Amino acid sequence: MFKLAFLWGDTLIEKPNRKGSILRIERASIHDGDGIRTVVYFKGCPLKCKWCSTPESQKTYEELAYMEKKCTRCERCVSHCPENALSLSSEDGKIHIDRSKCTRCFKCIDTCPFGALRKYGISMSVDEVVNEISKDELFYFHSKGGVTISGGECLMQMEFLRDILQGCKMNGINTAIETSLLAKYEDIEMVLPFIDTFFVDIKHMDSHCHKVLTGVKNHMILDNIVKLDESKFNFDIRVRIPIIPGLNDSEANLLATLEFCSNRNKISSIELLPYHRYGIDTYNSLDIEYELKKLSTPSNDHIIRMDSLLKERKSNLEIRANVGVSGSSTNLTI
Ligand code: SF4
Ligand code: SF4
Repeated sequence: MFKLAFLWGDTLIEKPNRKGSILRIERASIHDGDGIRTVVYFKGCPLKCKWCSTPESQKTYEELAYMEKKCTRCERCVSHCPENALSLSSEDGKIHIDRSKCTRCFKCIDTCPFGALRKYGISMSVDEVVNEISKDELFYFHSKGGVTISGGECLMQMEFLRDILQGCKMNGINTAIETSLLAKYEDIEMVLPFIDTFFVDIKHMDSHCHKVLTGVKNHMILDNIVKLDESKFNFDIRVRIPIIPGLNDSEANLLATLEFCSNRNKISSIELLPYHRYGIDTYNSLDIEYELKKLSTPSNDHIIRMDSLLKERKSNLEIRANVGVSGSSTNLTI
């Protein structure tokens, strides 16, 4: 493994230029923190949120996806797969991937003339990621923006994350992470010196409901928020609540979240993020069942009512409702 060497204060630090699993890097986002930001999506997540809009980020490893709408059924990929993992189904007329046979060699992707097969995920080194982030330094400077590391769950690759954040700090870049905080606090401590803003999701205050909706209880997450709030390091915590109609948007849950977050040292705001359905095609492309097929998105009026409910309590927190936002502007680099 190559080594990175740089000065941190007066100290020469040498560390391995480790590699990690990245889903994609998006540029020029104005929805993932202050100013114009580059968003780096890590691959891998320990939660299984029923509404997850990036199912391609859930596994740490690279995955093969099939986009049926682009496929002409020419069957070139079928004959080129060395494992006989591809077939054209006579039942539904689609290419089927036998994932028990597929070795993820990704040779089939190059045989498809129509871009109907693609890979999610790429292995990148710390300096490759930091170089990508640093390309937009001028935009960060003029907009007071920076980098936001998202996922998946970026804390699953803690040392890789730490080295990227440290590299960004060396270049004077503002740093934020979007996280569920599902990780051991002793491990989280290694990234604290290099983070300006934590965006933390609170998906449900009731631990049983949290487990039903995400696959895990919420004790570790809430404990970590309290510990972060008492940390000696200087950063901001911004809480986000995904508003999933009928699942976590009761008044009782929203007010319990407000009470938990109020009058703390570092929590500055609560932001309401309306449920959306942008990821459904990706579920299909990866042969993953989407459980919330029948769920509708909340109306703007509903979100504004939730927003008013929290604002009426006149807490110390800034309350924001993310109404009518259609997602990050994108410029894929990988
Ligand atoms: S990734 Fe490789 S093994 Fe899997 S379907 Fe494509 S060619 Fe076959
Ligand atoms: S090569 Fe591409 S277009 Fe042809 S059958 Fe395979 S996925 Fe479909």
